[in-house]
Amino acid sequence: MDGSGLPEIRSTCPYCGVGCGVLLRPDGEGGIAVRGDPEHPANFGRLCSKGSALGETVGFEHRLLSPMVNGSARSWNDALQLVADRFSSTIAEHGPDSVAFYVSGQLLTEDYYVANKLMKGFIGSANIDTNSRLCMASSVAGHKRAFGTDTVPGTYEDLDEADLVVLVGSNLAWCHPVLHQRLLTARKKRGTKIVVIDPRRTASCNDADMHLALKPGSDVALFNHLLAEVYESGAVDADFVAHTNGFDTALDAARADVISVTGLSDTQIAEFCKLWINTEKVVTIYSQGVNQSTSGSDKVNAILNSHLATGRIGTPGCGPFSVTGQPNAMGGREVGGLANMLACHLDLENADHRAAVRHFWNAPAMPKAHGLKAVDMFQAVGDGRIKALWIIHTNPAVSMPDADAVRDAIASCPFIVVSDITGATDTARLADVLLPASAWAEKDGTVTNSDRTISRQRKAIDAPGQARPDWDILAEVGRRMGFASAFDFASPAEIFREYAALSGVAEQFGRDFDVSGLSKISDVHYDDMTPQRWPITPTRQGGRFFADGQFYHPDRKARFVPVRFKPPAAKTEPRFPFRLNTGRLRDQWHTMTRTALSPRLSAHLPEPFLDIHPADAGRLGVGTADLVRLTSPIGSAILRARITDSVQPGHVFASIHWTGETAPSARIDAVIAAATDPVSGQPESKASVVSVTRF
Ligand code: SF4
Repeated sequence: MDGSGLPEIRSTCPYCGVGCGVLLRPDGEGGIAVRGDPEHPANFGRLCSKGSALGETVGFEHRLLSPMVNGSARSWNDALQLVADRFSSTIAEHGPDSVAFYVSGQLLTEDYYVANKLMKGFIGSANIDTNSRLCMASSVAGHKRAFGTDTVPGTYEDLDEADLVVLVGSNLAWCHPVLHQRLLTARKKRGTKIVVIDPRRTASCNDADMHLALKPGSDVALFNHLLAEVYESGAVDADFVAHTNGFDTALDAARADVISVTGLSDTQIAEFCKLWINTEKVVTIYSQGVNQSTSGSDKVNAILNSHLATGRIGTPGCGPFSVTGQPNAMGGREVGGLANMLACHLDLENADHRAAVRHFWNAPAMPKAHGLKAVDMFQAVGDGRIKALWIIHTNPAVSMPDADAVRDAIASCPFIVVSDITGATDTARLADVLLPASAWAEKDGTVTNSDRTISRQRKAIDAPGQARPDWDILAEVGRRMGFASAFDFASPAEIFREYAALSGVAEQFGRDFDVSGLSKISDVHYDDMTPQRWPITPTRQGGRFFADGQFYHPDRKARFVPVRFKPPAAKTEPRFPFRLNTGRLRDQWHTMTRTALSPRLSAHLPEPFLDIHPADAGRLGVGTADLVRLTSPIGSAILRARITDSVQPGHVFASIHWTGETAPSARIDAVIAAATDPVSGQPESKASVVSVTRF
């Protein structure tokens, strides 16, 4: 209850991976008042601008209210039968790998689980990937290479106890604001030092002790140098390294790397290494500046190598920490929502793991190899290999790199299904079948935030029109495709119990992800579930991983991964002399489907812009607020110039949010080429090459 005496409903913010708890008070007319949940361990009542404006973004005007087939309203029965029939006939004619699902980190874990079960266990393909591929796939790959599984070892409490926090490729102040506020509170209390490693001077630098404006993509060289300095200074923790393999090889690679590629001065590099080595409690937070790179996995492993060498992992105030962009990127990973994973952190290419999941699901089919990752998936759509595609809660015609080609590929696909809350997106306009889905605050389920805390999202208001939860839509299509008993779910609680039980089966393989302690949770307890950090077993709940030096490779040791600097895929040249960086704004979210509904949020930075250094602007004759055309080898966009020395000479920065609906000539992903990390498949969204001309 709040002060007004009206009941409040506990839920979780639908935006970033901090996963803040919110209290929702419906007004009885479809609106909701929102405040921070003082009891949620992620935020203790705090909300950022986006979270506190959530109540302004709940409206029905823009909503898709009924299923649509080729632009005409149809019944659920007709639409779902059409979806089931077209997927079944396509599979019968062309095989299971001729269909695909492209889903979203916005999905709840229960939705993700059903989608993954349908595709991998019953359709028999691994062609399910997610927009989380654009967000944290490199972290997953780095974790798996080093630890043997995709474990985030640390917790938010580590920020309270660290003496040094290093932000690598992370504008925490704008992209994870409540976590940044927590860091600043710790800084006030204990004088935590903050170092920002980022080519751009971001808002996170305002409170930093040191900003290392390195050259884009050179993080591996910097962390390799740090590893070499750790060794030279005698700071290697030999006892901890005994729990690892590959230190000498990684050290040799590190010593062979060239630090000058970072563009940093000797003094800056020496000061950073001295601070890092001489501070016992170090947390290294990393995000999209690390992940969205053709060497993203290597960057992650370079960071992990430094923590493994010093044993700064798994103990309070220490550890590498991947902060996720979306509210449920972690939950998607836990139930296998990526084309190269099985549920519960099991491996698709491990025959024993496949057999266990197949047996648990009583599944007729199980793919043996990875499916198509996001970029490859849309290329397969474009060249006709994928003939039926279901896109759920995401807008790839805008948000994928090489967005014009992706838009054309979707338009050319014989059968496109889109589930979303609105039909007014660039992608939804290309759908053969549009399915109205419930939105945040209209449905029940769970999400997992960046520090492994599982929280409930709860229904506070009714969905408008005929909108339905995603798990319900997916399960009904599964039943109509002939898999009745496997998809006979009546509630998200039932789905949760099933995947919690599956995690108990996975435990026989010694996996980290285990929530089997909740496999018998009653409907009532699911309704009342409080935030809990996994693992959740009868004998263990939460905590940090790896303090005992036990990892998840077969020999239970961690691996150092030898890595060397590789430049970004695209090279600047006279025709394309600028390096384009991209990122989020403080007050917008993805393609603005929700945040654009808040006038308060839209007032922050109301139109698409390009940050350009004064020296470059002067040379090009570009003045403040001039329109400029940005051109890359694959596309162009028109933006308004902002002249600022927050970017380096030769670099420009643009935000990712504007779409064909909101600013047709400013779709930044139409400019970004689809180069990917060979290990993770994550696209390089922050290092394209472009020219800039006055418009
Ligand atoms: Fe929501 Fe992230 Fe802001 Fe928290 S920090 S209120 S999860 S957007």
